[in-house]
Amino acid sequence: MRMPTVKYQRGDTVMGRWPGSSLYYEVKVQRFDSKSQLYTVIYKDGTELELKEQDIMNAMSFQSRLRSRSRSRSPGRRRSRSRSPGRSTRRSSSRTSAVTTEGAPTTRKDPKIKDVVEVRLTPLKQAVTTDSNSNNKHENEETSATNKVNQHQRETEPERTQNRYNLRRRKDDGDAKAVEAKPQLSEEETKPAVPAPAATPLDFGGKIGAYFWLLFLPAWVFFLLLQVNQDDPSLMNFPPPLSPLESFWDVQAFGIVVLWVLFQVLLYVLPIGKLSEGMPLTSGERLKYRTNGFFAITVSAISVGAAIYLGVDLTYIHSHFLQLALAALLISFLLSVYLYARSRSAPTDQLALGGNSGNVLYDFFKGRELNPRIKNFDLKFFCEMRPGLIGWCVINLGMALAEMKVQKLETPSPAMILVNVFQLLYVADGLWNEEAILTTMDLMHDGFGFMLAFGDLVWVPFTYTLQAYYLVSHPNPLSPLTLALIISIKLVGFYIFRKSNSEKNAFRRNPADPRLSHLKSIPTATGKSLLVSGWWGVVRHPNYLGDLIMALAWSLPCGFTHLLPWYYMIYFIILLVHRDSRDMSECRRKYGSAWDEYCRTVPYRIIPCIY
Ligand code: NDP
Repeated sequence: MRMPTVKYQRGDTVMGRWPGSSLYYEVKVQRFDSKSQLYTVIYKDGTELELKEQDIMNAMSFQSRLRSRSRSRSPGRRRSRSRSPGRSTRRSSSRTSAVTTEGAPTTRKDPKIKDVVEVRLTPLKQAVTTDSNSNNKHENEETSATNKVNQHQRETEPERTQNRYNLRRRKDDGDAKAVEAKPQLSEEETKPAVPAPAATPLDFGGKIGAYFWLLFLPAWVFFLLLQVNQDDPSLMNFPPPLSPLESFWDVQAFGIVVLWVLFQVLLYVLPIGKLSEGMPLTSGERLKYRTNGFFAITVSAISVGAAIYLGVDLTYIHSHFLQLALAALLISFLLSVYLYARSRSAPTDQLALGGNSGNVLYDFFKGRELNPRIKNFDLKFFCEMRPGLIGWCVINLGMALAEMKVQKLETPSPAMILVNVFQLLYVADGLWNEEAILTTMDLMHDGFGFMLAFGDLVWVPFTYTLQAYYLVSHPNPLSPLTLALIISIKLVGFYIFRKSNSEKNAFRRNPADPRLSHLKSIPTATGKSLLVSGWWGVVRHPNYLGDLIMALAWSLPCGFTHLLPWYYMIYFIILLVHRDSRDMSECRRKYGSAWDEYCRTVPYRIIPCIY
């Protein structure tokens, strides 16, 4: 049956834009939904996606556009265009500024050339195969062939390739051949940055949800901190009567938090440690990050040790916990306002897909700009990895000293030592493997706004320390057998967590890594493959499983008298289940039928045979 009054009909072969890029593939129209005004199209590799009409082009007009474009590339015309100041664009200027940063590639030109050549070289091949080895071999061959042509191209046609951009690496494109569709910037693209419409469905309960979380999250932190200080910190009890609000504010506590953040900034900007490359952005660009987190925690530990030796009383943290938390909240709020304000003038291609709804509060909460940077200082990466994470360990140490003071102990209790050592191990491991965060959702997909700023600077340091805070005034003696059991649980969790995260990180960085040649993967139409064996063949999020087992080991030392020290475990289950479903939708959007294939092959999400 033909579809009436729609531009493209079922069965039509047209060119469909791949979401989030400017690449067009040949697709077949499946149907049109008049309600959503979306076309369901199928790519040659079987991926089905819904596209708007403006993301579809008639094959004939697409060809003629390509022809006229190649005509427009005569050397003479090219020169006049590139030299006309009026032609300088927002996009190109944003990229020029990126060149000056440490985080940008050393030159914009080379990656572009490489990408163009790779697309041209992409051979037709089966889209879905479970033979990872051949896949990896193919990538090796392709890369070396690419490099040769690449070099030749650079020598012979520097200007021609310079005018092409916005192609991403497409190493295993399957049947679908990508075609560059926008060689020049249209007039529209030269206009000042206008926020693009939200490209993904709203998360966290949408706009109403964002208002709720903005109010609820800070209130919840203070509720927990007030509760845990009570003699009977039952969650069923009413919170203690609120002290006057002024008592929450302490200039000294605020100054300490500011100094702590500045100290971490200093350690981050020191030119010590490795510069790691992030994953390619939609533009093909790869930002660089100073991954010297382990250096930062080592220097911080020495400095805190020296301060204690010189007589600084770290139990101040325990006695001024609320004031310190309020100071961190204020800083995270001010930072979020700054992030939102600067995102208003960020180029559209630097905005996160999810935080761009047009609703001020939702976008403020979710975060608009993907990688906000001040010169080469990456604000999101810094906040994710430094002040909060390292601060978490310092707070735990302060709680251990407070426990000795309050309980009149010569050493911290075994339960307190376990909590301190386990969480220190978690943080130190995260900083030792800091590069691995570059392939996580937070870094790759989420914009930087209140959600992450608050999470990094308030939520992590002030609620993840609840177990230590609880133990200060609620001792829980442990038998040697219980101790051994808890340590074993922690080690099992840590092993699963570390191995699975490292496996995915290594695969994302270099799918052809010989150490991964035993693993099976399925290619996707985007050029990335998905692991279907090894840890990622057991469940879809083995790293979450390991993390949850570790969370269990952190709560067990506090015993079963109260629910409060189990708060982290409960919250973490909710967080990871929600995170998994967010990731599922995102991956479904990105990988289409290849993701469905992965889900069929690996049916369980986090816990084998259960969930
Ligand atoms: P992941 O590190 O699991 O990243 C998910 C991404 O991995 C997907 O979007 C996809 O991205 C890629 N991926 C998914 N499946 C595969 C596959 N089969 N093969 C290859 N790549 C795949 O998620 P998170 O960022 O949520 O978590 C990172 C770590 O941080 C976890 O260990 C988690 O437990 C921990 N964490 C801890 C928190 C805490 O508060 N303690 C909070 C949140 C996370 P793409 O394909 O684009 O590469």
